Amino acid sequence: MHTPQARLETVRRIATEVTGPAAVAVDHDARFPRESFAALKEARLLSACVPTVLGGAGATIGELATMCETLSQKCASTGMIFAMHQIQVACLTRHGADTAFFRSYLGEVVAQQRLIASVTSEAGVGGSVRTSISPIMRDGACCSLKKDGTVVSYGEAADDLLITVRRSAEAAAGDQALVLVRKNQCALEQTGSWDTFGMRGTSSPGYIVTASFPEEQIVPAPFAEILQRTMVPFAHILWGAGWLGIASDAVARARAFVRGVARQMPGTTPPQAIRLSEVAATLQLMRAQLQSFTRRYDELIARADGGSAELSSVGFGIEMNNLKISSSRLVAEIVTAAMRVCGMSGYRNDGPFSLTRQLRDAHSAALMIGNDRIHASNATLHLVYKDDLSS
Ligand SMILES: Cc1cc2nc3c(=O)[nH]c(=O)nc-3n(C[C@H](O)[C@H](O)[C@H](O)COP(=O)(O)OP(=O)(O)OC[C@H]3O[C@@H](n4cnc5c(N)ncnc54)[C@H](O)[C@@H]3O)c2cc1C
Repeated sequence: MHTPQARLETVRRIATEVTGPAAVAVDHDARFPRESFAALKEARLLSACVPTVLGGAGATIGELATMCETLSQKCASTGMIFAMHQIQVACLTRHGADTAFFRSYLGEVVAQQRLIASVTSEAGVGGSVRTSISPIMRDGACCSLKKDGTVVSYGEAADDLLITVRRSAEAAAGDQALVLVRKNQCALEQTGSWDTFGMRGTSSPGYIVTASFPEEQIVPAPFAEILQRTMVPFAHILWGAGWLGIASDAVARARAFVRGVARQMPGTTPPQAIRLSEVAATLQLMRAQLQSFTRRYDELIARADGGSAELSSVGFGIEMNNLKISSSRLVAEIVTAAMRVCGMSGYRNDGPFSLTRQLRDAHSAALMIGNDRIHASNATLHLVYKDDLSS
């Protein structure tokens, strides 16, 4: 699988042959989509974004986005887990690969197809990613942490965890570090269940994570920098791609439904076709915004200086937040509209036009880092933002 086309073909095959057939059971049982991840590991796609010099495929963010969209068209939980894992790998690749430990670890991700989960949310801070309570504690060369993570997707199935913490017991809540902890270095105490409305297959209960690890497992770059340059742009693009997968699946079902109606009344255009046209236009808008931002980010990080000045700019921050706000809003809007096109056939839980799982999954988008939190952050940025036209 040396070309992006070959990799995408493989993802399409896995989505059709494995992910789609398992989707109803994964949702019903709120269980990890193990068969899809066995297939993705076998195809060596968990290391898709590891650079080729370290043995990975060196996939671009655009390629990863298409993979997330493809998987999410069949099962949004599978697409979201794939996205979350790639975000973790990208953070290590872009901010850790200068150290011997992380280069060697990324080699293990390639060889063993290790799955990495994320522990940023914490009891007491909610979804405020830029705040941590739990610190790194030091005893000579040995470090340890204890974090009450409130939502840890695929925590049980993951091989390793990437955890945000305060840099030390004396550090302020915003002076954070990112730590990689292997499962065999930690104890996980599950603190709740995961019986949710949607995204049930992400299997995301809370855990109290207690871990001991050497200093070298702390990612050297400050977390604020990792967040701004990689974690947020990767998350907003790959989450958005997953939501685009849900939305495009919904529109495809609505289109198939309207065609079926048209076949029963030859020579006329069914009344639902107007609403189909409307929702297809909204889908195009959602896709265009995602593609344009993805291209821009890809170009910036490909520059010799890594686009660092622009990635840290107020304008880029606002744009990146806007992508998340609008794609999370549009996915729910599009699936709702598609359900109305299909009527009762969309509202029922079974049948080829059912959109109930898609609608439940779509509503998680506004909560994955609450949109009001993102609006609050943008509100502050707008106070100092000068766009090209006003300067
Ligand atoms: C499917 C799914 C998977 C997830 N997986 C993970 C994972 O793997 N790892 C992980 O760490 N987390 C994960 N999360 C958690 C997630 O990203 C958020 O951190 C978490 O959902 C926030 O929890 P909350 O909504 O209860 O709290 P809060 O973020 O505190 O929000 C509660 C409410 O208060 C509002 N609010 C809070 N602060 C402000 C503010 N400053 N201004 C305006 N309004 C505000 C919010 O908009 C919201 O209405 C996942 C979430 C989902 C839905």
